[in-house]
Formats: sequence, structure tokens, C-alpha cells
Amino acid sequence: METKRLVVLGAGESGTGAAILGKEKGYEVFVSDMGEIKLPYRAMLDQHGIAWEDGGHTAEKILNADEVVKSPGIPLTAPLIQQLQAQGTPIISEIEFAARYTHAKMICITGSNGKTTTTSLIYDILHRAGLNVGLAGNIGNSLALQVAHEDHDYYVIELSSFQLDNMYDFRANIAILMNITPDHLDRYGFDFQNYVNAKFRITQNQTQDDAFIYWSEDPVLDREIEKMRPGATLYPFGFATPNESADKVGGVNAAWIDHNNLVVNACPEPLEVPVEQLSLQGKHNQLNSMAASLAAQILHIKNSVIRESLQQFAGVAHRLQYVATVRGVRFINDSKATNVNSCWYALESMTAPTVLILGGKDKGNDYSEIDQLVREKCHTLVFMGLHNEKLREHFGSFGLNIIDTDNLHDAVEGAFRAAREGDTVLLSPCCASFDLFRSYEDRGDQFMQAVRNL
Ligand code: ADP
Repeated sequence: METKRLVVLGAGESGTGAAILGKEKGYEVFVSDMGEIKLPYRAMLDQHGIAWEDGGHTAEKILNADEVVKSPGIPLTAPLIQQLQAQGTPIISEIEFAARYTHAKMICITGSNGKTTTTSLIYDILHRAGLNVGLAGNIGNSLALQVAHEDHDYYVIELSSFQLDNMYDFRANIAILMNITPDHLDRYGFDFQNYVNAKFRITQNQTQDDAFIYWSEDPVLDREIEKMRPGATLYPFGFATPNESADKVGGVNAAWIDHNNLVVNACPEPLEVPVEQLSLQGKHNQLNSMAASLAAQILHIKNSVIRESLQQFAGVAHRLQYVATVRGVRFINDSKATNVNSCWYALESMTAPTVLILGGKDKGNDYSEIDQLVREKCHTLVFMGLHNEKLREHFGSFGLNIIDTDNLHDAVEGAFRAAREGDTVLLSPCCASFDLFRSYEDRGDQFMQAVRNL
């Protein structure tokens, strides 16, 4: 049989993994990256004898591919991608490629917000239950690398809409869609429906034997369920009890909140956990906890194990992460809040008077979503960014104390000075970090360091 040529575009975690798996499965592999390939990935490619180039794409070494694995970071509008599409070369995601070579059960999580938290929580539950489970997608090692070297029985996979864009035959045994709010519209022709459709690809190829878990109170999901009619067995969840959710198209909630108890009802014996015992606090985390618990019950994990995880899970860094209390002021790092909706949930969970640090690279934000919570919970706003004009304009008339800064040091100092004993200083920027930082992780790390230096 003729050897097939696999071209991998983009050699980050997923691309490198796909290249190695491809090589092991007998493909002739070529890797090409527009930017510089990081040293550890170059070393891995060399170690496996895989040909690669970086700093540009050589078209004739790419257009002769039988199949292309594309990094989710490369937009479909890139000229080379357009050329490949025009000549009919299949372009797939690393997840689609890797899934061909494993029989593991796939638990996949997508949504605009809450993906990493829910993915990590499910992984924690499955791990505690003693299952042979891998964590993949946007977190952990690539699925492809794990399939190549240490195949697991279960994978918990965080999927972005960009990954879903290039998935066709992949089938999730359990698919979870947390919510859909406008994000990344620049990549979807500024058409919200395109983004919605990308998210719903998580349900494609699912059958009655599979599960689709989703937040039934999300107005977009509620509307789309009726239109899309996924083939899977539906497990809606939300704050409303089964009685209160009886009129929903997708059926009554399978997990809900009743008198401050989280109830999860996807197995003969429902699980009940008082909300105040959940290790992840805030309304959004009640939703994340419901979604994760439903997935676990569907996999027949004992309620006692789920309960233990819900009570003990340590959380994920940069998501409402407690940093320290300095002279009675609590500092919270929510650097991952890169859009207005996630800041809304962060503010919603605040129980003390709050000094909010926000700002950065604005992705076309509409701040009015947080107006009410800002008025209710904040006495001081600290702007931290190179371009604070929009923030000044929006919040200037609120009558709050405003501290306008263009660097993290001044922002943290200013916030600390403005805070009184018992207050919380919350970094939940609503914006991307790229004006002042390398990434949201860098922003969160620097914030935590600055707090420790106070
Ligand atoms: P993602 O991986 O989708 O970006 P994360 O779990 O990393 O989501 O959480 C990012 C931010 O979004 C958190 O800091 C939190 O403020 C907010 N968030 C988390 N879960 C939810 C949810 N279910 N709905 C809305 N916002 C959420």
C-alpha cells in the first residue's frame, strides 16, 4: 500500500502530538509552522525522525498532502488553508485524527465559559473513582500523544469551537455544552449563528446510547435544542427543579438546585449535596458542578465518590483563585475572565465589598452586562490597561472611586490602598491580556506575585 502523506500545520502541543501519532501509524509526516517552533517540540519531532520547517510554509510540501491536521489557532481564512480546501484535501483537527486510534470513552466539554473548570472537575471525579483516565484538549498533553504512548480507557477533553470546526466523524460518548455567549466572533464572520453551529458540532454523530448534557436555562441553548434535535439522550441541567422546568423542549432538568441543595438525578439514587459544601463557590460553579456530576453518574460512578470530589476539588488556577489575605483584605485572581460574561459570574459570587481590577485588550466588549453588579458590589474600579478610554467612558458616571493605571504594580497598590479591612480585591479583567502580558496565566502569576509583595 502506498504510504500516505500527513501534513501537520502548527507545531504546538496538539500538532506535535498528531505528528508523532501519525508517524507511529505509518504516515509520511511533514510539520510546518508559520512561527518559531518551541524548543521542546522541535526536540520531540527530531527524536521521532519527523521532517519539519518553521518561520514559513513551503507550499509544494504541503499541497501534496493526503490529509492535513490543522492547529486550531490557524483561521480557516488563511490563504494556504483556502488552497487546500479548494483542491479538496481533507483538513481535520488533532482530536479527530487521534480519536481514530483509540476505543476509549470520550467525555467532551465545550461552551463559552466554564470549560476548563468542568473538564478538570470531571477528571478529578473519574480519577478518584480509580478509572484509567486522561485529560486532553486545551489542557494537559495532547490527545494524540496520549493515544500514541499511554492509551487510556477514558478521556476528558476540553474542546474549543476552533477544534470543533474541523471535526467530522468524531463521536462523543458524553458531550457537554455549558453555555453560549458571543465570543471569538471575528473568527466566525461576525455571525453569531456560525459560532453557535460550531459549538453544536459536539453533538454530531451522537446516538441514543450517547449523552448530551447542557444548561437548559441558557436562552441560546434552549432555542437551539428545538432546532438541532440532537440524536443523543438529553440531560438538561439548571437552577430550576423538575417541576419548574417541566415545559422545556429538552425535558425536565436532570440536575437542579432545591432549597440550597444540589440534586443530581441521572441514576436510581439521586445525589444531594448542600450548596455551601461545594468546594467551588459561585452560581456559575453550581452549574459546572451539576454538569460534571451528571457525566459521572452516567458513567456509573458512585455518588459517594462524586460527593467527595465536589467537596474537595482544589479548583483551577486563575479562576476565582484565592491568593492571600493582606491586612484583612482578600485578594482573588480571576485572570482567566477574558470576557464580560465571566466577570459577571465572578462579581455575582462576591460576598464582601469589592475593589474590581479590570481592563486589557478589549475584544469589542459591551460592559453594560455588569453594570448592575458593579453598582451593587464595587466601591472602587481599578483600570489596568494601555487603552482605558472605553472603560472611563462607560463607568465614569457611576460615581465610584476610579483608579486609572497602565501597569500591574500601580493597579495592585492602588487597589490595596482603596480597600478597607474585610473587602475583597478581585482581578477579573473582562479583557484579553496581550496589551501588558504574555497570556492570562502570566497576568495572573504577576498579580499573585505583586500581592505577595505587598
Ligand atoms: P473556559 O475554559 O471556558 O474559559 P474556565 O473554567 O476557565 O472557562 O473559567 C473562565 C472564567 O469564566 C472563570 O474565571 C469564571 O469567572 C467564569 N466561569 C466559569 N464557569 C462559568 C460558567 N458555567 N458560566 C459562566 N462563567 C463561568
